[in-house]
Amino acid sequence: MTQVYGRVALIGLGLIASSMAHAMRRAGLAGEITGYARTAATRDIAREVGFCDRVCDTAAAAATGADLVVLCVPVGAMAEVAAEIAPVLAPGATVSDVGSVKAAVIAAVGPHLPAGVHFIPAHPLAGTEHSGPRSGFAELFDNRWCILVPGDADRAAVDRLRALWAGMGANVDEMDAEHHDLVLAVTSHTPHLIAYTMVGVADDLRRVTDSEVIKYSAAGFRDFTRIAASDPTMWRDVFLTNKEATLDILGRFTEELFALQRAIRMGDGDHLHAYFTRTRAIRRGIIEAGQDTAAPDFGRSPAKAP
Ligand code: NAP
Repeated sequence: MTQVYGRVALIGLGLIASSMAHAMRRAGLAGEITGYARTAATRDIAREVGFCDRVCDTAAAAATGADLVVLCVPVGAMAEVAAEIAPVLAPGATVSDVGSVKAAVIAAVGPHLPAGVHFIPAHPLAGTEHSGPRSGFAELFDNRWCILVPGDADRAAVDRLRALWAGMGANVDEMDAEHHDLVLAVTSHTPHLIAYTMVGVADDLRRVTDSEVIKYSAAGFRDFTRIAASDPTMWRDVFLTNKEATLDILGRFTEELFALQRAIRMGDGDHLHAYFTRTRAIRRGIIEAGQDTAAPDFGRSPAKAP
């Protein structure tokens, strides 16, 4: 694989940034990888694990001279880090991010960036419930989708970023920010909210003791607990910034749930059977598209699409 960027700066050194660094190194996609994290503790771990060539003590130092700067912090922190790096960005450099929400990130980051810098937001649909600089692995993005939201960005700069994500193993697609946020509200954000709720309900149910919940947890509930273990800061920011789309999908979900509730109450087996037949076909479609298996976990845990 050939080098795509001379110097790549990763701002935020958690699961996604460390996985990007491992994946870039696997394929020789970057000449040098610099990194920055907010706390000294995370910077020290990143130095110890060694996935960056240089870990800097400020975001500006990491971004200086970079051809590509990728913001890998929670969505609510994007504006602050964009303001920190803006003064050192060279004309022609590309700024991207990996945030799970796109319209809010574009509104938060865009105004800070100087003219002549290419801003190309991105979202890799890959992750685990683990976080931090020790949790990354090179295979995280293999055969997963990465969605770019290029707007009217320079085509050559977009193609270069596409080449980077393809080199890290991802399939790359492009869409506009509003569509991205709606699609993700359906496929990821609302399902996470439902998982958080189901685990909360089980916790509230005092008639079922904690030990029974754990002892008898069948695959469905176990999967919910894995999803509900995802990083609270990241998911708080997702719901605060993808508010409209999530509320829209949640409203539709609630209507369908009421319809199923009514069918159960009325003993309407035909309704239930027809509904479950329809949903089964969706599952088959996912399998046919090759998106059913979790990314290899290499001793970690199954991937989800955040
Ligand atoms: P993570 O493992 O928790 O790492 C987050 C990093 O951001 C850490 O280095 C942390 O620094 C830093 N950070 C946190 N709050 C900050 C603040 N207020 N200002 C500056 N830096 C801050 O998170 P992640 O899973 O890699 O997620 C990073 C981004 O990727 C998020 O925007 C998320 O929406 C997106 N994403 C996540 C997944 C997923 O499944 N996890 C998938 C796709 C996209 P310290 O450690 O020093 O506090």
